[in-house]
Amino acid sequence: MTMIHECDSCGYEGRVIEVLDSCLCESCFEQQRHLIEAQPCPECGKEIDTDIGLCQRCANDPEIMPQPDC
Ligand SMILES: [Zn+2]
Ligand SMILES: [Zn+2]
Repeated sequence: MTMIHECDSCGYEGRVIEVLDSCLCESCFEQQRHLIEAQPCPECGKEIDTDIGLCQRCANDPEIMPQPDC
């Protein structure tokens, strides 16, 4: 969502993109795009490897992977 507001990162006032709980101007948004797109690991909240949907640690931990009951 785009609106006129002050960038929470650099203070630029103008067209910003609303991201999560903050507003970022286009240049700050571009800089932080990779951080914004990285969702936290559903198991531990750490940054995930987007290819597998879990962080590396959880992906390598068989304890928390879905296991068949029998
Ligand atoms: Zn900015
Ligand atoms: Zn994790």
